[in-house]
Amino acid sequence: MDNCIFCKIIKGEIPSTVVYEDDVMIAFKDLNPVAPVHVLMIPKMHISSAAEITEENAHVVAHIFNKAKEVAEIMGIGNSGFRIVNNCGENAGQTVMHLHFHLIGGKTLLWP
Ligand code: 5GP
Ligand code: ZN
Repeated sequence: MDNCIFCKIIKGEIPSTVVYEDDVMIAFKDLNPVAPVHVLMIPKMHISSAAEITEENAHVVAHIFNKAKEVAEIMGIGNSGFRIVNNCGENAGQTVMHLHFHLIGGKTLLWP
């Protein structure tokens, strides 16, 4: 998508610190981290939000979750634990309309 900042990050048009990449996804450091480790895992395919996951594209979401442990290990938190967050839509505070999963850790996280 032409006007999507995450599509521009994928194409290298906007700089980012990529920590993992393959044919299906990239993971890069969040610009405004909320924890010592805060990475965004996104599909290279433009999917607007979790509400746009379908039978046809769900395999990319499965791929991202399959790789989450590996991304956590790259970030040094494979054993200490991590949280995966998705904000979907206005009330959830989604600000970038390209599906992304926050992988957060490196400290004890409060819940709820
Ligand atoms: P959301 O609020 O949509 O769930 O999360 C969007 C995330 O994208 C935010 O945590 C924000 O800091 C991050 N973000 C927005 N623009 C950029 C950018 O240009 N580069 C990087 N690395 N992160 C960004
Ligand atoms: Zn996009």
